[in-house]
Amino acid sequence: MGFRLFDARLTTGFGAALAGGLAHVATEDPVLVIGAASIGAIATAFLAIRAPSGTSPSLSIAEPPAPSDAPHPGGLAPGQGRALLEHLPMGVMLIDRRGTIIFANHHAGEIFGGAGLLEHPFSILRSPKLVDAIEGCLYGAPSSTVEFARPRVLDIHMRAHVLVLEPDDPDLPDERDAAVLVVVEDVTALHRTLALHRDFIANASHELKTPLSSITGIIQTVLGHARDDPQATERFLGMMASQTDRMRRLVEDLLSLNRIELNERIAPRDPQSVMTIVAEVADALQQAAEDQGMNLTMVPPTDPKVMLSQVRGDREELAQVFRNLVENAIKYGLTGTEVAITTRRDGEEHPGMIGVSVRDHGHGIAREHLPRLTERFYRVSVSRSREKGGTGLGLAIVKHILNRHRGELEIESAEGEGSTFTVWLPIFEAEAVTGAKAGTKTRTNQADAA
Ligand code: ADP
Repeated sequence: MGFRLFDARLTTGFGAALAGGLAHVATEDPVLVIGAASIGAIATAFLAIRAPSGTSPSLSIAEPPAPSDAPHPGGLAPGQGRALLEHLPMGVMLIDRRGTIIFANHHAGEIFGGAGLLEHPFSILRSPKLVDAIEGCLYGAPSSTVEFARPRVLDIHMRAHVLVLEPDDPDLPDERDAAVLVVVEDVTALHRTLALHRDFIANASHELKTPLSSITGIIQTVLGHARDDPQATERFLGMMASQTDRMRRLVEDLLSLNRIELNERIAPRDPQSVMTIVAEVADALQQAAEDQGMNLTMVPPTDPKVMLSQVRGDREELAQVFRNLVENAIKYGLTGTEVAITTRRDGEEHPGMIGVSVRDHGHGIAREHLPRLTERFYRVSVSRSREKGGTGLGLAIVKHILNRHRGELEIESAEGEGSTFTVWLPIFEAEAVTGAKAGTKTRTNQADAA
């Protein structure tokens, strides 16, 4: 009562072929390709550990071969098959010709609500799409893949590969032969990623369309009733220049974000002096602060070791982090107030790290916005951001650069009291405390950010 998947006799060949086939279906998505490869591996494992004919059907996957001289050339020792299938992070089930579930691993039990799947009809599975697909396979339909929401948990997305098995001996079919193999994987993360991509493209297109529409309108006006009015034409050309400038900034930020994300997993190695980079940024933005009637100051550190602190970093990326924060402080600060840059190291919660804070005295940010500030295109007030020349990408860029540098961003703000954005970076020095916390955590004084 063994079984085989169609005519594939060469187990590794079949696994690879199935993986390849599924990968082909998923050509446009690397995550799907990885998923497909896993399914291929499971099929290979099934075939590799398939029981000798004559064993009990419910144990047909994992029954340890009785004879002590049984070889296990593929490296799987007797009994390892069941353990392997039980621990797979995917639901695996076998259905016999009568439609009875004759094998279900632990994960399948979790997905379909309980350990009591064995010896029940497959209709217990509570997903109409999956039930239809299994039924189809039992009545001669080919293998298929279906997606469905996890029973009773609607925002969890599952994908099931429902694969037809053939009996070893088609002339002597037995109703207890395994007829259908079901492999179920959780594709919720993939769904979320795709949704994020869709939102991102929609947002980016919208951001570009708005200035483009303005420019189109201005051109029509200049060519129309303002044609003979040099003063109006000049004014309209000025408006066009500011709209194209907005588009340029947006494209630059999008390219920047893309470049940073591509390198995000490659930690920079070059030692950099944080104080030098911060001082250069402060110098470069002095004029911008003065233009807004603001005073930009760099407060000398109280701890002399701060001056010498180095981090492993990409100089241009670190400069971009500080530039974005200081530019925001100038944009959202108030005329006549001060923007102060302070530095310290080894904060209570950040041993082995250097912290650079940018403090402004603007309107501050209400608590509910804090956790979302580093999302792309998230703005407390879209009109205010646009009016100030913002793209909504500055803090997203900061977050990704800090991810790459194993740094953190801390945001403290309260309405009417201004804001402090603090960047923490692991210090690179002989005496530095190693093992500083990795990853970017946007923290606030009121609530931990997501
Ligand atoms: P933008 O280009 O809109 O400034 P950012 O990603 O840099 O985009 O910032 C996201 C939003 O966070 C801004 O639109 C603004 O609402 C808010 N924000 C950032 N920095 C400050 C600040 N220093 N004070 C007040 N609000 C700020």
